[in-house]
Amino acid sequence: MAARHPTSYRPVTPVRDLLARSGARITPARETVLAILLEAPRALSHLEVEQAARQRGLTADRVTLYRVLDWLVGQGLAHRIEGQDRVRRFNAEAAVEHAHAHFHCTRCGQVFCLEQPLPRHKPQLPEGFRFEGMELTIRGLCPTCSTQT
Ligand SMILES: [Zn+2]
Ligand SMILES: [Zn+2]
Repeated sequence: MAARHPTSYRPVTPVRDLLARSGARITPARETVLAILLEAPRALSHLEVEQAARQRGLTADRVTLYRVLDWLVGQGLAHRIEGQDRVRRFNAEAAVEHAHAHFHCTRCGQVFCLEQPLPRHKPQLPEGFRFEGMELTIRGLCPTCSTQT
């Protein structure tokens, strides 16, 4: 089982097909941001998405990119990860289909989506608490950092 998405990962479904499936208008910003997330070997912060978009020649302001990211999450095309460092990161949903655990490297701060699924059972909660969702973040050192120890 791969610990993270291989860097050679390429989506089976082209970006445009994924977007078309949602029935929404395909804009350069939506197409570029989704392609960035699909190709990234790890989850990306707002800033990293912004930098990658600029490298690809996308001239969209920060607010537009934030809206695109939120839109992709709303469409189920991407997911948001609340980091231990309070940084929000994003990754394409198509990369890992199911609800899954995340790995946060405590040295370099990178966040990876793991293939490992979350427990299927709802946690037992005290009387009066209502379940909405669950996240699992595993902390440790990524392959690069663990070899530098
Ligand atoms: Zn690391
Ligand atoms: Zn993930």
